[in-house]
Amino acid sequence: MEMAPISILITGANRGLGLEMVKQMIETAQPVKKLFACCRDPNGPKSEALQTLAKNHPNVSVIRLDASDLGSIKQAAKQVCSVVGAGGLNLLINNAGILSRDNLQTTTPENMQNTFNINALAPLVITQEFTPLLRTAAKASVIPGMSCRKAAVINISAFLASFESVKSTYNFLPALSYRISKASLNMLTVCAAEELRNDGILFAALHPGWVRTDMGGEGGDIDAQESVKGMLGVMASLSEREDGAFLDYQGKTLPW
Ligand code: NDP
Repeated sequence: MEMAPISILITGANRGLGLEMVKQMIETAQPVKKLFACCRDPNGPKSEALQTLAKNHPNVSVIRLDASDLGSIKQAAKQVCSVVGAGGLNLLINNAGILSRDNLQTTTPENMQNTFNINALAPLVITQEFTPLLRTAAKASVIPGMSCRKAAVINISAFLASFESVKSTYNFLPALSYRISKASLNMLTVCAAEELRNDGILFAALHPGWVRTDMGGEGGDIDAQESVKGMLGVMASLSEREDGAFLDYQGKTLPW
């Protein structure tokens, strides 16, 4: 990302797109000063790659944040607050997510609840907890207008959340609970943009493309490198014109 923000927090940063974001953010000519890479089990085997990156890059801090444990979200916010101080947090990326391949006939209340909790409720609570830090960053910045360098929340959404996509994609991949949860995430994005516009905090929902990760599977259109390169480019280009927008990794506006 050109002219990197000073501080960034990413959820689900131990594998897939989140880990690739961390990699690309530390490889740029102007790396971010403070990168909070969150994952639910920092000392577990699935976080080894992230821990290795953090060991070699002092600007990366690994923080425990389990999207299903609201207490851990509060704890993470406290930890970040003690580090960023008066500069606040410039960019929050709600990336952690889960996908269930269910449909109307196979889903269960537990499955719906779990998927909603991780994909929609957690981003809501995370946004609430970090809003004071984002507000501080917006106030502390001398950069005019809205941007990811100043104060922003990027919600990693999905094309499957688009109502218009259902006719062309449902038979291929129903993912009912996933669609409902990500559509809720999109609504959260629009409402939060409306509510916090005067605080100078930009919100956008981004679709990463169909990506070859554990979630996307081997049949995906693109790899994580291409997706993240595109998304970071889009994030760098966002301004007040895109506040509350739903875009893909190439910057194309998607239908709701
Ligand atoms: P992966 O399955 O590869 O990675 C998911 C990440 O989310 C992991 O880091 C995982 O951590 C984390 N996560 C899951 N549950 C929790 C939890 N309770 N608390 C904290 N972290 C959790 O998926 P992708 O990297 O492909 O997906 C990233 C985002 O992109 C998701 O929001 C997804 O919906 C979205 N997306 C992906 C697409 C694709 O084609 N890949 C398409 C459209 C959207 P852990 O290792 O602990 O499980």
